[in-house]
Amino acid sequence: MLFESVPLGVYCIVLTAALGLCMGSFLNCLAWRMTHGESIMRGRSHCTDCGHPLAARDLVPVFSWLLSHGRCRYCGKRVSARYPLTEIICACGYVSILITYGLSAETIELVAFFSVLLVLSLTDLDDYVIPNATIVAAIAIRLTYLVYGGLTGAFDLLPTLGRTLLNGVIVVVPVIVLALVMDRVLGRDSLGGGDVKLLFVAGLYFGWQQCLFLLIVACVIGILFAFVGPGGKSDDQSEDEEGNKSRHIPFGPAIAIACWIVMLVGSQTVEWYLGLFGI
Ligand SMILES: [Zn+2]
Repeated sequence: MLFESVPLGVYCIVLTAALGLCMGSFLNCLAWRMTHGESIMRGRSHCTDCGHPLAARDLVPVFSWLLSHGRCRYCGKRVSARYPLTEIICACGYVSILITYGLSAETIELVAFFSVLLVLSLTDLDDYVIPNATIVAAIAIRLTYLVYGGLTGAFDLLPTLGRTLLNGVIVVVPVIVLALVMDRVLGRDSLGGGDVKLLFVAGLYFGWQQCLFLLIVACVIGILFAFVGPGGKSDDQSEDEEGNKSRHIPFGPAIAIACWIVMLVGSQTVEWYLGLFGI
């Protein structure tokens, strides 16, 4: 059993969901400030339209949005449904990781990584950029976990560090080669630098076997996004020589969702697949 008792399990899940909702609100704000060049340390939360500082009652995750019918209480402008949605996604992410890994150091590591993935997804959706700060944060979280595991004797630190780095390289080198070939074939950039860095990070976390699965999932999600998903603001549409409209699709969120799926079912999926060949 994942938790010692059912009441403890329910308590941990409710607490984690509440933390996820609050963190979702904070991470939304963080991503907005990163893309709008505002300091992430200073300044009170404010309406993005009228700039009015938000009171405590405006900052309750999901409920504030619902109670104000999705509008700013000061200027009446619509507040995007993205805010409560992000908060709910963050809560779902945190709880799903807790249920998968229980009360463990791995849960803390992956919850922190999930938070970084959420921020870079939002900045990529808004500005087609995956800030280097998010990549550095993700690497720092992984390093902290490995050093902690090494110091507590969970594994040998140096060999694990070496293997982790090697995994990142094994994942990223073929991706770079493939991206260069695709750039030539398509005659335009196929994969952004931020996407490549994020895949390197995914290699550090999940190893190259799970990253093969991750890449397939990310591509499927990316294709879905191309038809129905986020991105594709009207001013980002461009026409090719035949006059066909093509949309720039942010790939970061697709990789981020794939990372989330791999966190939850990656190792089982790889085991199942290798089992098909009796490996
Ligand atoms: Zn306002």
